[in-house]
Amino acid sequence: MITIQPHQSEKVEHTIDKNELLNDLQTILPKPSILSELEQLKPFECDALSAYHCLPWIVVLPEKIEQVQKVLQLCYLKGIPVVARGAGTGLSGGAIPLDNGILLSLAKFNQILQVDVDNRIARVQPGVTNLAISQAVVHHGLYYAPDPSSQIACSIGGNVAENSGGVHCLKYGLTVHNILRLTILTMEGESVTIGSHGLDGPGYDLLALLTGSEGMLGIVVEVTVKLLPLPESVQVIMAAYDDIEKAGNTVATIIASGIIPAGLEMMDKVTINAAENFVHAGYPIDSAAILLCELDGTTEQVKDELAAILTIIQQQGAVEVRIAESDQERQKMWAGRKAAFPAVGRLSADYYCMDGTIPRRYLADVLKKIEQLSSKYGLVVANVFHAGDGNLHPLILYNANNQGELENAELLGGEILKLSVEMGGTITGEHGVGVEKINYMCYQFDCNELQLFHALKHAFDNKGLLNPGKAVPTLQRCAEFGAMHVHGADLAYPELERF
Ligand SMILES: Cc1cc2nc3c(=O)[nH]c(=O)nc-3n(C[C@H](O)[C@H](O)[C@H](O)COP(=O)(O)OP(=O)(O)OC[C@H]3O[C@@H](n4cnc5c(N)ncnc54)[C@H](O)[C@@H]3O)c2cc1C
Repeated sequence: MITIQPHQSEKVEHTIDKNELLNDLQTILPKPSILSELEQLKPFECDALSAYHCLPWIVVLPEKIEQVQKVLQLCYLKGIPVVARGAGTGLSGGAIPLDNGILLSLAKFNQILQVDVDNRIARVQPGVTNLAISQAVVHHGLYYAPDPSSQIACSIGGNVAENSGGVHCLKYGLTVHNILRLTILTMEGESVTIGSHGLDGPGYDLLALLTGSEGMLGIVVEVTVKLLPLPESVQVIMAAYDDIEKAGNTVATIIASGIIPAGLEMMDKVTINAAENFVHAGYPIDSAAILLCELDGTTEQVKDELAAILTIIQQQGAVEVRIAESDQERQKMWAGRKAAFPAVGRLSADYYCMDGTIPRRYLADVLKKIEQLSSKYGLVVANVFHAGDGNLHPLILYNANNQGELENAELLGGEILKLSVEMGGTITGEHGVGVEKINYMCYQFDCNELQLFHALKHAFDNKGLLNPGKAVPTLQRCAEFGAMHVHGADLAYPELERF
């Protein structure tokens, strides 16, 4: 594990005495909602990116919005940084705390406030788990579409902060497409309503800006989500290939044909074997790759699309094709995919999960290049990903106890992210930037673009107290990382220190 700290240009320094602050906090919160002892703080030192950690200074667990408001006002006044935390399942280190800051847990905000069946919306608190929303409305024939594989645990507040996706986001969109309104608290403790219960609104699209802002612009305290009717018919096809390139080409051809499946996922040989050994989903373990393709809609529509997709799959050279005969078999096919991350976790002491997105037509090329990078660094890479979205999740297997392996995994991951950008894609599809990919933001964006991000941050959080050191790098960091764009022979911002 590496102890992580913000870059020196991103650090928020203060000289506030801890005991004095604890006394102030006790005027806002009951004593059991304030944690400051080592054994109480330990569980909060990292999120699901467990390679990096930092012991928080103080953790607070408020249960009323007024308490969050007062904590923020106090921190704003005293210049203390604040990191929001949902369920801590983030994969990019976004919720890693600070050793001189407050970790603000939203876990106690776990109520579904209202279900409006007629308007197909629900108002929920930020700590409600993603899955709990669908479970609460299933008896109305409704569900909430974005379905991260972590949905049993991750919070809707975290989903908003990361603009999370999942298997069904290919057809139904990411979190940003499935929410209508947010209530946020600014760093100064002011309550702001963003969006509305109507479908569109005038002015800048602040809802989109806040979604994916990684806890750096405001604290989400209420979310209005859209609900969809459960589809009349659902069908899943599993296609196996002897060559990963053929599977990649199948994905590109399906999308080019105009059909948007409800989900289109791919697993490579390493992942197929790991998942099969873990949940016995019935995957053909000799294949180089499998595709899981889900179709949903009216019975007629599913029948037509199924026929068209089966033709494409055959044309692209699948060696085995199975159609789920029952709901039970469909669930079994998905069980392997949904458990793929923990399944791969059984293969190796540690893994490092990347999240680049590329145009789908380059899937086969990029997978081949990842294979070459895997040999170059001598580390196994397991691929399991949202193929229909071109959203790669290479899991780089390493053992942190072996000297240099984590560093090697980081370098290999970095090469994959650079490759994604070179292919016209991005360094993150759904897991966010956090601390994990912050240096690669310097690679993705130029100085002017980063300065726009900083101006937006300043408009919401003028003291830079919300989640410093995450997601948006300072120009100084980029200068040090050596990735600041240089045009011609002109070094941008020559006045910045290069460390
Ligand atoms: C096994 C596994 C599978 C996963 N699969 C997927 C997947 O398929 N798709 C996907 O998109 N992600 C996936 N993830 C990643 C993760 O679950 C998501 O990013 C999720 O949205 C994080 O939610 P959380 O509540 O755990 O947030 P946390 O990890 O607690 O926080 C994440 C970020 O959100 C901020 N934050 C949290 N709550 C708030 C709030 N109320 N207001 C403001 N900021 C807040 C934090 O500061 C941090 O920056 C997976 C993770 C695991 C471990």
